[in-house]
Amino acid sequence: MTEPYTDQYAAALDEADPLRSLRGEYHVPRHGDGEQAYFVGNSLGLQPKSARAHVEDVLDKWAAEAVEAHFTGTTQWMPYHALLREPLARVVGAEPGEVVAMNSLTANLHFMMVSFYRPTRERPAILMEAGAFPSDRYALESQVRFHGFDPATDLIELEPDLPEGTFSMEAIARAIEEHGPRLALVLWPGVQYRSGQAFDVAEITRLGHAAGAVVGFDLAHAAGNLALRLHDDGPDFAVWCHYKYLNSGPGAVAGCFVHARHARTDRPRFAGWWGHDEATRFRMGPDFDPTPGAEGWQLSNPPILGLAPLRGSLELFDRVGMEALRAKSRSLTGYLETLIDQRLSDTLRIATPRDPAQRGAQLSLRVLEGRGLRGREAGRSLFESLGAQGVLGDWREPDVIRISPAPMYNSHADVLRFVRATEAWREGRA
Ligand SMILES: *Cc1c(COP(=O)(O)O)cnc(C)c1O
Repeated sequence: MTEPYTDQYAAALDEADPLRSLRGEYHVPRHGDGEQAYFVGNSLGLQPKSARAHVEDVLDKWAAEAVEAHFTGTTQWMPYHALLREPLARVVGAEPGEVVAMNSLTANLHFMMVSFYRPTRERPAILMEAGAFPSDRYALESQVRFHGFDPATDLIELEPDLPEGTFSMEAIARAIEEHGPRLALVLWPGVQYRSGQAFDVAEITRLGHAAGAVVGFDLAHAAGNLALRLHDDGPDFAVWCHYKYLNSGPGAVAGCFVHARHARTDRPRFAGWWGHDEATRFRMGPDFDPTPGAEGWQLSNPPILGLAPLRGSLELFDRVGMEALRAKSRSLTGYLETLIDQRLSDTLRIATPRDPAQRGAQLSLRVLEGRGLRGREAGRSLFESLGAQGVLGDWREPDVIRISPAPMYNSHADVLRFVRATEAWREGRA
């Protein structure tokens, strides 16, 4: 078993995989008589089979008990969030009081900035990456303007210093040092959505804090992907979504982390009744007394139907733990890298860092040439051929295909299938 490009090799890796049975817990979309090789869990994760029962439980209770369902049974709605708190904390390496599921990612980013972006004349600036996900840039730019500052000078966008839009830690450190006295906030991704580069949360946090700035992270592509340690790494806040690696459905209720050091804070916030101390919320008094911790940033009574699939997903994360998932993820992505190097180096260039510590599940693949086509044209042609062969990646302009083997449900056989499908396209067979 020494030749990676064989069915036997992939099968042996899958047989040795302690997490192999998890695939059976998910609905894998069909392709012909078989299943898709689904590599788009970084965009919309697959549906856990248990999601339906959890949603139906809410519908059934609503039908049978209506308002009383808030206070009955093991899944009563009033403390429904408490069913999620601890497993969610384990996924991101936080204390239970540091996390909450609420709103959407971009909404949480805004609400966090209300509290944690407090620009002054001396310190007005935000440091972020150039080429960030557009929603993040819109949110940050509009916050700078909202406070009466000028994005041209006060939204500092660091350009990548390495090939393929990646960053060295030195460049990030230099930027934090150079702009340090003017920085109110450093906002950085855990994993960059386009390049797939993973960043050192602890080190960026340390540098930002040393410069006197608040440090926040967008973990859209990191939560459920990396073995995060948010409490120990110490950022002030973080936000993420649950529909990517956390498999909780389209537009799922998002996640938010506020470090324990801010559990009781007199920072300003936009308040709502669900952030009020649980013990006295229903006295319905006029004065806001926040619940300590992340739950104090909640506004509204939560969408129980929206939280239900998250329960099913988090049960699966809890069953295995992030360390085991991450170990399998390294194996899958490493296998993909090995096969691309061996078989596809004329066709695809890996744009994601080679160091496993600097990436998660995803490899971003720049399409070079094939079938007489180059660059974007080759990319579109390959991308469409892969889809027709039941191999799903996603497309990022101008010429990148992102392939993200998710350790929850992808196999080494899926990875081999991607490589073979790409060869079939290149050789005009598909
Ligand atoms: C997926 C993603 C988003 C999406 O934002 P929503 O508010 O959930 O629509 C935002 N930022 C990043 C970095 C993402 O990857």
